Amino acid sequence: MKKIELLAPAGDLERLKTAVRYGADAVYVGGKQFSLRSRASNFDLEDIQKGVEFAKKHGANVHVTVNMLPHEDDLDGLKEYLIALEQAGVTAIIAASPAIIKCAKTYAPKLEVHVSTQHSITNSAAANFWEQQGADRIVLARELTMEQIKQTQMHTKLPIEVFIHGGMCISYSGRCMLSNHMTMRDANRGGCAQSCRWKYRLYKDNTPIHDEQDLFSMSSKDLMAARMIPDLIDANVASLKIEGRMKSTYYIATLVHTYRMLIDECYENGRILDKRMEWYCMELAKAENRPTGPGFYLGAPKAKDHLYGVNGAGVTGEFIAYVLDYDEKTKLATWEVRNRFQKGDEAEILAPHKEVRSFIINDIFDENRLLIDVANQPMRIVKVHTDVPMEQHAMIRKKMEKDRFDIY
Ligand code: SF4
Repeated sequence: MKKIELLAPAGDLERLKTAVRYGADAVYVGGKQFSLRSRASNFDLEDIQKGVEFAKKHGANVHVTVNMLPHEDDLDGLKEYLIALEQAGVTAIIAASPAIIKCAKTYAPKLEVHVSTQHSITNSAAANFWEQQGADRIVLARELTMEQIKQTQMHTKLPIEVFIHGGMCISYSGRCMLSNHMTMRDANRGGCAQSCRWKYRLYKDNTPIHDEQDLFSMSSKDLMAARMIPDLIDANVASLKIEGRMKSTYYIATLVHTYRMLIDECYENGRILDKRMEWYCMELAKAENRPTGPGFYLGAPKAKDHLYGVNGAGVTGEFIAYVLDYDEKTKLATWEVRNRFQKGDEAEILAPHKEVRSFIINDIFDENRLLIDVANQPMRIVKVHTDVPMEQHAMIRKKMEKDRFDIY
């Protein structure tokens, strides 16, 4: 049986490399053309080529989102772009428009076509329709329960990709006109302004129905489906997708590291013990401080699965340094500072394919080898004395209090 794929997002080359190093089987990126969130994308064709080379060297694949719904004058250059992606060694495109799918099948046949979640595919009949159109995979709508995912996979030969982590739309993904209405920014052409997460005043008959400070927003809790992974593997799903091309390197590393270990443990041991699953959930919660829930996996979300009045994640500040080097002889680690830390802080090492290790931060030296008590300038290079060896590209984070987490 083919092992399930862990598919991670990347907003630029640095995040692509992080996702691959931390264990993603495939990474999806948005090009500067024909992609939703094209404004946020840093991948021109040259970077896509570099990303593919790096990924292939590590046994991973690159998928490119070509998922805008183009209007007539958006189609210029599409054929040439798809041919260039094929020549760059891209494995698959994620597409929603039949025009783009047809063009890829005709002019770049080596590219797999994965039908985007923008199509809201919610059943096997829809999946089979796309198989007839030449699709190689479908990305299911987020709005399905575990049982519906199982039934869909059971009745189609097409490989299925499902979301396991990240932001949720309050309307069916891709079927939202809120952003268009409020800002003239088209969510289906890459411009969503996340108007659902703005704060609104509610009135009834011209009278406000809540306090001034208690404004209303329609934001959903983020999806976190760690507890579903064993069942998704049993259901023969092909790919587990993390959402968030705009997220930070630390966020990507934390999620990919955790889901990689969780998936591998499922294959090694069958089921995951409850205590171990709690640990995985706790690890995932360290990525950022936005509350999470099970999305639609256990049924339609209820009031408790929404964030009325909260519109975004705060910066946690717990990612404190990036490891550039560790010298076994001198026991000195070279770090690039990201957030404030000081001597005596309890910290953790997050390294690709390794269990998380804790240690106490000892002596810190500045670039002149002078002892300092506090490191608080981002991107400054410091040396830290520690007996705990650490790998290049590992991330150091402060140990967090358990009560900081909101885990369902
Ligand atoms: S406004 Fe909100 S619900 Fe609509 S597409 Fe954007 S994120 Fe989704």
